[in-house]
Amino acid sequence: MSETAAKIREVADGVVEVFLPLPMKPTIINVWLVRAGATWTLIDTGMHTGDSRATFAAALAEIGIAATDVTRIVCTHHHIDHFGTSAPYQQLTHADVYLHPLETERVTAMASTLGEGTDFMRQHGVPDAPPGRQLPPPSLAFGTVYCPATPNHLLGDEDEIPLGDGRTLEVIWTPGHTPGHCCLLLRPDGVLFVGDHLLPKITPHVGLHPGGSENPLGDFLASHAKLLRYESRLVCPAHGGVYEDHHRRARQLIDFHRVRKLDMLELCRRRAYTAYEIALEAFAISPDNRFQVMAATSETLAHLELLRREGRILRDESDGRIRFRAR
Ligand SMILES: [Zn+2]
Repeated sequence: MSETAAKIREVADGVVEVFLPLPMKPTIINVWLVRAGATWTLIDTGMHTGDSRATFAAALAEIGIAATDVTRIVCTHHHIDHFGTSAPYQQLTHADVYLHPLETERVTAMASTLGEGTDFMRQHGVPDAPPGRQLPPPSLAFGTVYCPATPNHLLGDEDEIPLGDGRTLEVIWTPGHTPGHCCLLLRPDGVLFVGDHLLPKITPHVGLHPGGSENPLGDFLASHAKLLRYESRLVCPAHGGVYEDHHRRARQLIDFHRVRKLDMLELCRRRAYTAYEIALEAFAISPDNRFQVMAATSETLAHLELLRREGRILRDESDGRIRFRAR
């Protein structure tokens, strides 16, 4: 077997999975090449590392296509592993880049985010980081691994992108993990590309962030309910293996968050808690791991906000701290 033999797999006629390395967990992102006549569409790009670019180049060579045969780059959302190489690949292939407008907003917001959002986190109970231990702003943390393109086209819910040769990609807007996350349904084949929305083994981060959606978990669950209205034959996730029956997995994820939400409601019955205190109870995180603390607190807030909208908990503010208690 050649060195690159394990890095691609044709999962359906003219649909090729390319396994690209990531320098963190999960360690692989699946990107997809979809053939339509003589042209190809790339779904998601991987992170901009030398390793990822070399693997992608080897995959193109193994399939036997030139970079310029890729005429469209459609990205599910703006995160570094999905959109990180979009600018270099736009240059390399001259392809048109597609992204949802709420994602282009996040790209712009990320570039100007200065700190770790301390004021927002402080009012939710997160202790200040010791000097020098604050998380760096995204622009510094990501450096050269994030090279976002300026999209040529903005994705809209239920748009149909004609690929040629009778194939189209239908856009299904699925906010939750990010505000403008989109799944893509290849017709007539029934191949559903789900980005991070419907992963087979893990559930993606869904967090409440300043400037983001006001009810991200509500959005995420509604997006799962929406996908139940679609049929698919094969599901292609960004992390983990391809699978069938996205309805089953969507119901599992809806149930998973229902249980987690009820666990948090139980805690709020004992006394008033800050989101940070609930996060420490609900997630197995270390208070010293700043990244984990931020992620778990914003994920907890997404659950608490949904509970509050359901009228099951109250939000009190005193002494600059926000606490939640059951009604
Ligand atoms: Zn993501």
